[in-house]
Amino acid sequence: MSKHFVPENLPDHIQHYIDGKFVDSIGRETFEVLDPVSNQTYATAASGQTEDVDLAVAAAKHAFKEGPWPKMLPRERSRVLHKIADIVESRDDELAYLESYDSGLPITQAKGQARRAAENFRFFADLIVGQEDNAFKVPGRQINYVNRKPIGVAALITPWNVPFMQESWKLAPALATGNTVVMKPASYTPLSAALWPEIFREAGVPEGVFNLIFGSGGVAGDYLVKHPDVPIVSFTGDSSTGATISTAAAPQFKSLSLELGGKSPAVVFADADIEAALDATVFGVFSLNGERCTAGSRVLVQRDIYDDFVARFAERAKNIVVGLPSDPATEVGSLVHPNHFDKVMSYIEIGKSEGRLLAGGGRPDGFPTGNYVAPTVFADVAPDARIFQEEIFGPVVAITPFNTDEEALELANNTKYGLAAYVWTTNLKRAHNFAHAIESGMVWLNSNNVRDLRTPFGGVKASGLGREGGYRSVDFYTTQQSVQITLNESHSPKFGVEASRETGDA
Ligand code: NAD
Repeated sequence: MSKHFVPENLPDHIQHYIDGKFVDSIGRETFEVLDPVSNQTYATAASGQTEDVDLAVAAAKHAFKEGPWPKMLPRERSRVLHKIADIVESRDDELAYLESYDSGLPITQAKGQARRAAENFRFFADLIVGQEDNAFKVPGRQINYVNRKPIGVAALITPWNVPFMQESWKLAPALATGNTVVMKPASYTPLSAALWPEIFREAGVPEGVFNLIFGSGGVAGDYLVKHPDVPIVSFTGDSSTGATISTAAAPQFKSLSLELGGKSPAVVFADADIEAALDATVFGVFSLNGERCTAGSRVLVQRDIYDDFVARFAERAKNIVVGLPSDPATEVGSLVHPNHFDKVMSYIEIGKSEGRLLAGGGRPDGFPTGNYVAPTVFADVAPDARIFQEEIFGPVVAITPFNTDEEALELANNTKYGLAAYVWTTNLKRAHNFAHAIESGMVWLNSNNVRDLRTPFGGVKASGLGREGGYRSVDFYTTQQSVQITLNESHSPKFGVEASRETGDA
């Protein structure tokens, strides 16, 4: 096994970035940041309190009201966004090693995240230049048009899985549309988020437009969501946190976008291309360490092929290379944090009485420390099992047989979540009918999770509220004011005219 790799120039302290300056919390509060291989503290990070959030929001508000950003021509903002994309791309390797070190993601899967992040900026840079809005004419009488405007200070609250890429997903449309932002990344993974300030500075983003606050969700996140000068909140994370945020934001009627958890089904019919389905379903649950919101963590397999498919699936899982995140041979690295490791392990223990354990089931051999979990396969899992119903967010799969299309649909829809779904069949009619009947925000037919940035992204049921992606993001981060102009004389009924005649008033 290769040696634990520690990136060069690792910071030992990570600061907030407020109004163009790196700063600590006013009260000097910090939290510790662990690397998930040794679980040793390698850095401290400033821990934002309410007064720090106040400063960040004030800077963003000032930049929105007084600064050039919201008023710039789309082409000018677009140039800055393309420059951000260029810089992000040029730092792909550095970013990948930091991300892998901080989150435990295998290096081969961390590479390429910068390209995806850069692509988010390019996509919205192009979109705002081509942006068009409606105008409606009532011949000879009225013209009505849509005046699209940025909203103000956007709070962006992000999770720890593929953090840099997920941050870019929110930053790019929020900034492209002329808002200013305060971002609060997850406290498990602050390292890659700390790259943004330099990138934005170098690209020419004006001071105060981008502000970064580290800290706990319960303090910094909660206060940011409730802040009266923050009209818009985009959150990605756990469904229960989403519910808390929704309640916190409700009294002020904030615009809210919630990208939440999932327990997505991968449904394999007997007529499917079995090799392709096997590759995709194994990858679908074990890639990114299984720490993936759209993971196909429930695999539903038609009875005719069930025994064979399950045996082959388990065989593949046993052969998956678990190893140091920095080792290019590694397919599953270490989970992000000991707390998350404990959660995943507790589900594995629950699973042992709920399903037939065919692979994994605990720490892999040879890894006595660190947050390593062997890819774990449970077969014959009943739909009322907790490992069928609850999001584990680790390398653990529940496999369940079905006989008919109706039964498959019933199983697929039988959780509180509805984020993604994957369907494997060569029958075209079945594929579309099944896809339409599934309660999920997204469905992939005979495909792994491959994203087209123009398509809407989001979930139904406990998987979220609202859609981002393409024009939906532009809609979310802007307000559409409708403006009406009369082309003719104004025709208003003359209220009060008769009454004034009767009383003799003018
Ligand atoms: P989490 O909900 O614990 O934390 C997410 C963020 O919210 C963090 O920055 C956290 O500090 C903050 N936060 C926590 N409590 C808060 C509060 N009361 N007010 C404001 N902010 C608060 O989620 P996580 O463990 O970081 O991420 C994993 C979860 O995210 C999984 O459930 C996963 O499915 C989900 N996820 C969803 C998507 C999607 O697009 N649907 C994408 C990735 C991850």
